[in-house]
Amino acid sequence: MRGRILALTAAALLGVAGCSQSEEPPLSRASAGRSAPAPVPAPAPPAPLPPLPPAEPGDEVKALVTGTGVVVPVLARQGEGFLVRTPCARETVVAGGTPLFGATVVLDPGHGGVETGAVGSNGLTEAALNLAVTERTRDLLEAAGATVVLTRTADYRMALGPRAEIATNLQPRAFVSIHHNGEADGPSPRPGTETYFQIASPDSRRLAGLLYEELVATFSRFEGVPWEADLDAGAKYRPNAAGGDYYGILRRSAGVPAVLSEALFLSNPAEAALLARPDVQQAEAEGIARAVARFLTGDDPGSGFVEPYPRTEPAGPGGGTSSCQDPPLE
Ligand SMILES: [Zn+2]
Repeated sequence: MRGRILALTAAALLGVAGCSQSEEPPLSRASAGRSAPAPVPAPAPPAPLPPLPPAEPGDEVKALVTGTGVVVPVLARQGEGFLVRTPCARETVVAGGTPLFGATVVLDPGHGGVETGAVGSNGLTEAALNLAVTERTRDLLEAAGATVVLTRTADYRMALGPRAEIATNLQPRAFVSIHHNGEADGPSPRPGTETYFQIASPDSRRLAGLLYEELVATFSRFEGVPWEADLDAGAKYRPNAAGGDYYGILRRSAGVPAVLSEALFLSNPAEAALLARPDVQQAEAEGIARAVARFLTGDDPGSGFVEPYPRTEPAGPGGGTSSCQDPPLE
């Protein structure tokens, strides 16, 4: 849910570029006709992914899958066990688990536990949807040979700090935070996908452009959907007051090419109905996996880059550690 959960502070924005110079014509509410939904055909199956590289073998434990299946960043060895950061960003010692030495790709399903994120009119929560799409994306990338690590593996709360720390510890070649949007500006003739990149990272920008390209192509195959979008939909950045990355997950993962995916609007009942379908979740996962594969194996520049309009609304709470309850780790 854009702007609600990810930012750690409610910092107001300084103005960004004063004019909008998008590479696509701006959306018009008047021209974006809203017609009755037509039958939505399933898209054609995509081509298989190219072979992807596994993680480089390492000898230092960077993260751990605990005995209960929770992924935690490792801070240090401690006796026979490991000092780790918990999902609520506390430090604790765990006796063991499955050690992780590196990753090709880290996937971050947004929200979890009491932090549900956006909720569709059909009851579909963003937290559950994000995890479902993430798991499908993981399966596709792993089948192509990549070493994939998830920051969240079940329905528990997880602060932004340890999510990003898993990525900065494992140093993957790509880090994708998977979300779904809420509160669009209005109707749109095409899917209102937004992908955010790290301002200082050309690699992150390219990944966001590829992700935008693949997701819009994926969802555009579903016809007759009354899409909604923000006026500045596209591959873009969002600065904070200091000119850095507004979203904590992008800011805290600096040094790792990271993007934040807001695929569709869960706040739009038609899109929520679409996103509840397993075939649509699978199609989205295929789009994300293809974007990552193209990023890892080629030099396509991506597309859909827009100059975002200045946003002044503060982010809501979420992603922090207040009242956070850790899941069992052992
Ligand atoms: Zn979200």
